[in-house]
Amino acid sequence: MREYVDLRRCNTFGLPAVAERYLPLTDLAQLEGPEFRQSPTLVLGGGSNLLLLEEIPGLTVHVLLSGIAWSDGRGRFRVLAGTDWNQFVRYTLDTGFPGMENLILIPGTVGAAPVQNIGAYGAEVSEFITAVQAWEFGRGMVELSPEDCAFGYRDSHFKREPGRYLITAVDFDLSRRRPLKLEYGAINAELEAEGITDPTPRDVANAVTRIRRSKLPDWFFYGNSGSFFKNPVVSRGQYTALQTEYPDLPAYPIDADHVKLPAGWLIDRAGLRGAGTETVGTYERQALVMVNRGGATGRDVLSFSERVRGEVKGKFGVEIEREVQLFPA
Ligand SMILES: Cc1cc2nc3c(=O)[nH]c(=O)nc-3n(C[C@H](O)[C@H](O)[C@H](O)COP(=O)(O)OP(=O)(O)OC[C@H]3O[C@@H](n4cnc5c(N)ncnc54)[C@H](O)[C@@H]3O)c2cc1C
Repeated sequence: MREYVDLRRCNTFGLPAVAERYLPLTDLAQLEGPEFRQSPTLVLGGGSNLLLLEEIPGLTVHVLLSGIAWSDGRGRFRVLAGTDWNQFVRYTLDTGFPGMENLILIPGTVGAAPVQNIGAYGAEVSEFITAVQAWEFGRGMVELSPEDCAFGYRDSHFKREPGRYLITAVDFDLSRRRPLKLEYGAINAELEAEGITDPTPRDVANAVTRIRRSKLPDWFFYGNSGSFFKNPVVSRGQYTALQTEYPDLPAYPIDADHVKLPAGWLIDRAGLRGAGTETVGTYERQALVMVNRGGATGRDVLSFSERVRGEVKGKFGVEIEREVQLFPA
């Protein structure tokens, strides 16, 4: 256990923050210790979905349990929570178990993947999860089924119950071959540009890698946490009303009554792409991404993001919700 630990390098936004108490979790046996009688303030993975506000009181647990705990050799894996997500996806492709190629290059850890049900290019991690192993504070080790996890769009039981669980490992099933998902984003166009007519999962992974690299800022140079806001879900009635004024407003169907609107488009059309202050702003090439232009604090980011929310609400009457997790909440 260490005290007053600098977390600037532990969050991809590069925000200054200090953990009052910091414990690296490298062994499951540590969970039996007295520190875990109550929930920590922050369970930290790769820090790629966080908005940290200077001081994190109480305990921060950094989940560093890493590696593949078991595999049946036929596509079923139990992976420890601190394992790098992208490395695991690459490993599955290298060992002949495709399926998660659309989810390549998402930063962060395996343990955080179920928390917000990470997704990209038409795929979500929940499609591959068969169980989540977790430490429930005040109770002990538990196993949650996909139904228990109650996965939704960038949402899960874990997100709705902050502080209740520390995920120790995730079980995946990649034994079933699935059709490739090519229709989302620019995947098809990217494959065509490469002259690929009969793509393999590896081709899709390479296409997604190229698209992501061209669209998203490298957090090593421009601190960021990927998409800052979720895409809002609105009623079809509201969408139709908006369409009369904005005929080119894109929408993705959710169900008979609802559609999802791209938050990036709304921010862009509110005139906020590339807008901001000296320290924080939206990324010039993707308005949904907020970047640390150098020297930003969590409060700078929070206050600019509130301005963005307010202007989008004012122009379109649509609420956009933060995707990143604020600590302390
Ligand atoms: C450049 C960039 C691109 C991104 N692209 C995408 C994308 O395409 N799709 C997408 O869905 N996300 C994306 N993200 C967001 C982020 O990568 C994911 O949300 C990722 O799963 C976060 O993992 P992490 O380990 O960094 O979690 P952290 O940021 O450390 O934590 C995120 C949340 O999960 C909780 N948590 C972390 N580990 C555990 C654990 N073991 N047990 C319990 N709770 C835990 C934390 O307490 C916190 O609430 C992107 C981020 C960046 C910076």
